[in-house]
Amino acid sequence: MSANNSYPKSINETVLNYAPGSAERIALTAELDKQQGLVREIPAIVGGERIRSGDITDVRAPHAHAHRLGEVHNAGQATIHAAIDAAVAAQRDWANATLAERSAVFLKAADLLAGPWRARLNAATMLGQSKTAYQAEIDSACELIDFLRFNVQFAHELAAGQPISSPGMRNHLEYRPLEGFVYAVTPFNFTAIGGNLAIAPALMGNTVLWKPAATASLSNFLFMELLEAAGLPKGVINFLPGDPVAISGAVLARPELAGIHFTGSTAVFDTLWGEVGRNVSRYRSYPRLVGETGGKDFVLAHPSADADTLAVALLRGAFEYQGQKCSAASRAYIPASLWPAVRERVVAMAETIQMGDVADFTNFMGAVIDRRAFDRIHGHLQRAASDSAVKLVTGGKADDSVGYFITPTVLQVDNPHHTLMETELFGPVLSVYVYADAHWPEVLELVDGTSPYALTGAIFARDRAAIAHASSVLRFAAGNFYINDKPTGAVVGQQPFGGARRSGTNDKAGSPLNLLRWVSPRTVKETFVPPADYRYAHMAV
Ligand code: NAD
Repeated sequence: MSANNSYPKSINETVLNYAPGSAERIALTAELDKQQGLVREIPAIVGGERIRSGDITDVRAPHAHAHRLGEVHNAGQATIHAAIDAAVAAQRDWANATLAERSAVFLKAADLLAGPWRARLNAATMLGQSKTAYQAEIDSACELIDFLRFNVQFAHELAAGQPISSPGMRNHLEYRPLEGFVYAVTPFNFTAIGGNLAIAPALMGNTVLWKPAATASLSNFLFMELLEAAGLPKGVINFLPGDPVAISGAVLARPELAGIHFTGSTAVFDTLWGEVGRNVSRYRSYPRLVGETGGKDFVLAHPSADADTLAVALLRGAFEYQGQKCSAASRAYIPASLWPAVRERVVAMAETIQMGDVADFTNFMGAVIDRRAFDRIHGHLQRAASDSAVKLVTGGKADDSVGYFITPTVLQVDNPHHTLMETELFGPVLSVYVYADAHWPEVLELVDGTSPYALTGAIFARDRAAIAHASSVLRFAAGNFYINDKPTGAVVGQQPFGGARRSGTNDKAGSPLNLLRWVSPRTVKETFVPPADYRYAHMAV
């Protein structure tokens, strides 16, 4: 991979607002109507070929579970191995393509997505993953476009990083891809993450096996089609929907496994890491393991915080996309002096929240992703309802008759180590602990020590000394730390995303740090006039 100075400097894609009558609203509405009338076939894509196993899983709209949107063909063992073979076979040509050639594919994909494919991807993300128009726009349009463009810029900047050359020689660092294939295992909650986990290693010259989350397979499949339309060569990214355990079992046993690019729950990443550990001596090289995993993200308010700002941040941070963002606010620490005002505002606003079918643009929330998620979150709400240590502040209702709907819920606990403050619920549930104002220093330690995760966190305060103090004590409590802002909404190129502790390897998606994991540099030294005598000067007699 060599540098080329003509790479474009990226700017973030503008978020369209979908106001009534806007051109984007008209286009999106037409696309929603069209996709709602289809049951799309979603085959595996192996070496550019569609493989239909006939072993079908339905894709259903979470907010209208009677509505079938697609049929996924789950890949069988032969297809899985064919996909690995296709990735391995495609590697030499793709690795030998110049960075400029590879970049052209992804820059074209960005322009297609910003233009003619925008409504298609957004509509699929809305219907399949139950996102509102705005939540889809910031995900399957803007964030994915940003990943496509910024990765290219960062890759060129990396390639420009070269060693010095002393007189008489030329030194060069060649940013080779890994040898083998990369296994991208992706979550349901962001179309952009699904796409990025596949394209980031591919841009660096790797070939990829992409296993999407079943519940995101509609939008993810359409993104594969977009990459094909942008000219991605066959076999560079192979799309493999199906049983995650069967696919991972086969993939992790192959000696050509060169890396895993994972986003999802901590438990699944632990499983993959453990399996790689057991297989380690059979791999041709040590696989790179990159995983962004769970969170129990905090909002901490100081007594100097502004109650209005805090209430809005809690509401948006905890309930947008039904709390199913890895960065969603899920535990809050509020001083007793502020709590009555904050509670009043949060309850008043929460009661106005409209949720339902995402094709109805007046809704702020859709449904949680599937039956499993609904049952899990509903179970927490039911246990909370019969737990005398938990006070229901607002919400607490669940209704799965049409879709998997859970009302935005705030629960207050007296014990800061209650399971509601420690477990990732991944739904629209915010747990609140109210602390005595004088206990600020102890609360900082509590926030730091309560959860095994360290993904995102936010501090609200007007007092600068309190901000500095919190920032220092909580230095390792979050990989993305927000001051007077909600803990969600990281933007590519602006807030590189990822956390440490049990939240992952913190390789910062949307930054050069992530791309660095997908290269295995070769150092090349060329000596122009090699020595003609083996003896050194000090050996002279
Ligand atoms: P998940 O762990 O259930 O699934 C993630 C992926 O792993 C999917 O493709 C799934 O099919 C696959 N998978 C599931 N079981 C597997 C197994 N036994 N072996 C191999 N693969 C398996 O996660 P999800 O429900 O899709 O996403 C929610 C989780 O993702 C939450 O924990 C959330 O915090 C996390 N997340 C983290 C980030 C981040 O950047 N840190 C971003 C988004 C989501």
